[in-house]
Amino acid sequence: MTDLAESAVADDPEAMASCQIPDRYRAAVVLAADQGVFAGIPSNERDLHQTLHVTEVPTPEPQPGEVLIAVMASSINYNTVWTAMFEPVSTFRFLNAFARTHTSAARHDQPYHVAGSDAAGVVLRVGPGVTRWRPGDEIVTHCLHVDLADHAGHDDALRDPDQRIWGYETNFGGLAELALVQATQLMPKPAHLTWEEAASLNLTLSTAYRQLVSAHGAAMKQGDRVLIWGACGGLGGYATQLVLNGGGIPICVVSSEEKAALCRRRGAELIINREGFEFWDPHGNPRRGNWSRFRDTVRDLAGGDPEIVFEHPGRETFGVSVLCAARGGTVVTCASTSGYEHVYDNRHLWMHVKRIIGSHSANYAEAWRANDLVIRGRIQPILSRVYPLDRVADAACAVRANAHLGKVGVLCLAPKEGLGIRDERTRERHLDQITLFQWNS
Ligand code: NDP
Repeated sequence: MTDLAESAVADDPEAMASCQIPDRYRAAVVLAADQGVFAGIPSNERDLHQTLHVTEVPTPEPQPGEVLIAVMASSINYNTVWTAMFEPVSTFRFLNAFARTHTSAARHDQPYHVAGSDAAGVVLRVGPGVTRWRPGDEIVTHCLHVDLADHAGHDDALRDPDQRIWGYETNFGGLAELALVQATQLMPKPAHLTWEEAASLNLTLSTAYRQLVSAHGAAMKQGDRVLIWGACGGLGGYATQLVLNGGGIPICVVSSEEKAALCRRRGAELIINREGFEFWDPHGNPRRGNWSRFRDTVRDLAGGDPEIVFEHPGRETFGVSVLCAARGGTVVTCASTSGYEHVYDNRHLWMHVKRIIGSHSANYAEAWRANDLVIRGRIQPILSRVYPLDRVADAACAVRANAHLGKVGVLCLAPKEGLGIRDERTRERHLDQITLFQWNS
């Protein structure tokens, strides 16, 4: 029987499938014992190297409906930054609450939490009742963990009261050599991408898809102007592509000329550098003049107000987003990176019949549609830089510091970048766009 690590080096999924499963595996974890280390330290001064460790943990056994996967590569999502900061709450609270729901969930409550909500890899073992997948399959993961035991989620899984984000609200996540997922989380890996490219898509892409394209989100139409904050970040980098694909007009907001150039190379024409727009004074009071100046800048650039505003920075921008949206327009939000207590002038909302939509992750149908766009070569990865698993804390720190472009990858079992490509022809056709964000990593 071959060794899993050796089979991974050979990039041989069939051999990986027949390997003996190791009893322990390397994983990026936070520890319950560390929960107090940041007491009294402001968020922006918390050093994630103190809390995001790489260590060995025991291999979990797949239960009915579950799959154990070999993770070739993963990527950093902002939820791993929150996890390592123990903000806004410690994820051990989620794991503890999950463990109390059912005896089969009890094993999620451990003194360690394996983080990570994206992965590309190979099916190793399937639990009882899994029929759709078999060992050796090359897969990517969707982060939605849900049983659909409650009828509330049958039309849209995000309404299920037991819906969780894998690797954030559950244990055994993707920043590791092995990971445990529900079989329903698996989707086929796009054959023309490397492992690390494939692992850099799903959480943020599917979230942006639901926000913009889905009927559960803003249901964008051809010709819609869409204001996109952070257009070179994880969510915004995919949002820009979705808007261009759908015949919309992206208005990309970024914070540097380097990022503006990237947006142009992707095909966006309307770009605003947010440097010079301070929306709040040092005492936390709104600078209304700058809110209006930003609205006017958008209006002049786009020849009108945006029908959709793609929101996630939260407190710093939310009031401006509500102001900027067109009459009858939509602000669709999935996050509050800069603070979750938002301030906006409600007159702009009600008198101009705007609406705010809350959005979170994506249901299975949305995730599969988004993944299909990747497989068809209509959405390209935005991977800029890749770290080995041992340097996962450096990777998370780069994202926390906003010192990254697009997505930051992490190699887990893959020994180097560039493995996993099975369809060279499709890759060749889209190579310029696939590697666009790598131009300056
Ligand atoms: P990234 O850090 O990759 O990108 C965020 C971008 O936002 C940055 O590139 C930056 O661009 C911009 N930004 C940062 N701070 C500000 C600010 N104060 N004002 C305006 N723009 C700002 O993160 P992601 O895109 O991956 O995630 C963003 C947020 O969304 C996170 O809080 C994350 O947890 C959340 N999220 C929520 C999901 C859900 O399902 N609910 C799913 C995915 C993410 P620039 O500096 O160029 O303007």
